[in-house]
Amino acid sequence: PPRVVIVGAGIVGTSLADELTARGHHRVTVLDQGRLPTTGGSSSHAPGLVFQTNPSRTMAHFATYTVQKFRGLNSRDHLCFNTVGGLEVATTPARLLDLHRKLGWAKAWGIPAEMVDPSTCAQRYPLLDADAVLGGLYTPTDGLAGAGAAIDAQTVRATERGAVFRGEQTVVEVLQSAGRVTGVRTTTDTFDADIVVSCAGFWGSELGDLVGLRVPLVPMAHQYVHTADVTALADLPTSGAPADAGLPIVRHQDDDLYYRQHGSHIGIGYYGHRPMPVDMTALGDDTRDQPMPSMLPFTGDDFASAWRESQRLLPPLRDTTLAGGFNGVFSFTPDGGPMMGRHPGLDGFWVAEAVWVTHSAGVARTMAEWITTGTPDVDLHGCDIARFTDIELDRDVVLDLSSQAFVEVYDIVHPREQRTVRRDLARGPFHAAHRERGAVFGQGRGWERPLWFESNADLPVPPHIPADGWAMRHWSPIVYAEARATRERVGLYDMTSLMRVEVTGADAAAVLDRVVTRKVDRPVGVVVYALMLDHRGGIRSDVTVARTAADRFQLGVNSPMDVDWLRRHAAAAVADGADVQVTDITASTCCVGVWGPRARALVEPLTPLELDDLGVYRCATTTVADIPVTMLRVSYVGEYGWEVYTDTDRGAELWDVLAAAGDDLGAVWAGRGALDCLRIEKGYRSWGHDMTTEDTPVEAGLSFAIGNGHNHIGDGASDRPATRILQTLVADVAASMAMGHEPILCDGVAVGYITSAAFSPTLGRVIAYGWTPPDVRPGDAVTVEYFGAAQIFTVSEPVSVDPSGDRVRG
Ligand code: FAD
Repeated sequence: PPRVVIVGAGIVGTSLADELTARGHHRVTVLDQGRLPTTGGSSSHAPGLVFQTNPSRTMAHFATYTVQKFRGLNSRDHLCFNTVGGLEVATTPARLLDLHRKLGWAKAWGIPAEMVDPSTCAQRYPLLDADAVLGGLYTPTDGLAGAGAAIDAQTVRATERGAVFRGEQTVVEVLQSAGRVTGVRTTTDTFDADIVVSCAGFWGSELGDLVGLRVPLVPMAHQYVHTADVTALADLPTSGAPADAGLPIVRHQDDDLYYRQHGSHIGIGYYGHRPMPVDMTALGDDTRDQPMPSMLPFTGDDFASAWRESQRLLPPLRDTTLAGGFNGVFSFTPDGGPMMGRHPGLDGFWVAEAVWVTHSAGVARTMAEWITTGTPDVDLHGCDIARFTDIELDRDVVLDLSSQAFVEVYDIVHPREQRTVRRDLARGPFHAAHRERGAVFGQGRGWERPLWFESNADLPVPPHIPADGWAMRHWSPIVYAEARATRERVGLYDMTSLMRVEVTGADAAAVLDRVVTRKVDRPVGVVVYALMLDHRGGIRSDVTVARTAADRFQLGVNSPMDVDWLRRHAAAAVADGADVQVTDITASTCCVGVWGPRARALVEPLTPLELDDLGVYRCATTTVADIPVTMLRVSYVGEYGWEVYTDTDRGAELWDVLAAAGDDLGAVWAGRGALDCLRIEKGYRSWGHDMTTEDTPVEAGLSFAIGNGHNHIGDGASDRPATRILQTLVADVAASMAMGHEPILCDGVAVGYITSAAFSPTLGRVIAYGWTPPDVRPGDAVTVEYFGAAQIFTVSEPVSVDPSGDRVRG
């Protein structure tokens, strides 16, 4: 097995050593700058609350694995997990409602949980004033991770299997040769390695700097205090030594607070204070008199209101005092997700950082799978360090977004809510025109893009649109009017933010043929819709591949992770002597989608191209009003029309001529909202929502995108029997709603979950995609729970509007 050096002996590094050695990778050395086992990192003082339920299925999965694993490590010497249960209380109606939404996630991800009334809250947590809460969500399997005990137990086990742990070894250099890591140098020693995994916690950015890798995390201070003796606790049963807690862990998120028992004291954590990013260059000085480098001095003023609120919620605290506190340091990230993955240019260098104790063992397990097999076993689209574009990696941007993530950590966040900081990172060339027309913008990967246009407020809105207050937040009925106008006339869409790359060179076709699921080595002018699979046969992405010249392909891809994947395969081919280059052309080009029954009438007078010659899934380079363009006859909305691409500097002009030509035809300027409604009507999946690496093409209903007899990555691996299938579900009544992540129940039992959903202006009801067991069939009725309300949806044929594709053919 390869020699592995893990930098960092916190909960993540130690868990990884355990997981790697369990897989036969026994040549593992774990190095830490601190003394062992209490290194002074965040894990050394983590109070260890584990609330498992999370909007992200992957994060919930990491948490449930951590709970199971740590419970399994419990022994007389090590209490690695204390299953005291978790109680999240609501003090506002909005929070109470949101706990119902959270219960839906718990059901969808298979975590047992229930809503409880105020008196039951107080029964479970006797310090609580029942009159101060409106109800709560109780999760019996939540509890307290003993980070120190879990570190000990896993160190023992990994050591027995051959791992070596060394303290007081500060890694100062990552040794490399010919694009591969060869080891690390510490202040005193050198360690050879084939693989280096940085598990340096909030030092992750510094470790990344050693190898030119931007690790977008920000060390932030977070206050934790403990009280003096609480008299009322003396009367309560605790689970006895060595456990010092019998009471459930509590979250009071309306005031950014959480609580755990420490024997006769209560520990209180607080997120309501100002964001306090840590200056890493001053950390040594600032923590010189502290017990450890992850504990900054307590700033009492920041905690004053939290203490008052705690005494209100938990009246027995009025009889005690604050005994001590500190500003503990751990990592925050721009989107709240962890940083897992590989260096794009230095083979053998990996990171697993910005990970809570809650997710530590789950993250370590997936990292170990990834490192030992080459492919992660769970969907990492919200965790992979390759998920950010360059503009999102700017240090000031990372700082501002991570600070915002700290502020919002306990907020009720609507799935469509747009961030308020660091908007306008990237604007396409149509932006000014769109702003003038009253566009309401949302951002994706930093790009501002219209969600809808207020100037369309006069368009007729279809009947029966949902009255649901939550679903209509950050939303407008105009979306449905724009969707309908597209189906009836023609819509103009800004598609600039969708990432594009060019793959060029004499061997471009051969390299792409290996990476995508259908043959792209076809005549110039052919467009292929295909998938990129991983080595397990899971869907990494779906792409359109347009052959624009013999040695040139333009690909529409989903994310920077796709660009990374393509670059890796191109680099491997180049190392074998191939001629192939991958260039991200997203910023240098732009795209207008022109779709609808009148699209042809709109474009025909502007172009010399004989439009009849440009069939479905064909592309051509031509001009529109003398502007050089590339036109792709593809449509994400299921209507006749094109994606029209040009260089960014001609973009404004292109939009203007298309818009002017559309005026007499009733063309509507339409936003992302309409696009989403229309693509869901048409049965088109959205990668990251409806399908991920966890799903095979057969399961996701995309087997048509696999070329017959075509040899590609993941070929054969995806043939495993489907354990679940993606279905189209249509609400039985117009008032029903779904937005994604709601549980699907059959006979009262959760069997799957909704992946995405939209109100269909054509059907007048919500259409949703969701995973169900394979034996659920079209015509079957299922229950979709939305904020706790049971709604009936019927499994329908995959495509709701124009299944024969007549509209696309025109
Ligand atoms: P660490 O434990 O910090 O380990 C990283 C290690 O890397 C350190 O030991 C460090 O010394 C070492 N290292 C760094 N640089 C080098 C180098 N150059 N050479 C050698 N070694 C190096 N999470 C929860 O899930 N639940 C909670 O209730 C909870 N409460 C928290 C309360 C507070 C006050 C704080 C501060 C954090 C809390 N967290 C909680 C977060 C949690 O503690 C951290 O996310 C987690 O411990 C991180 O683990 P880690 O192994 O990644 O990092």
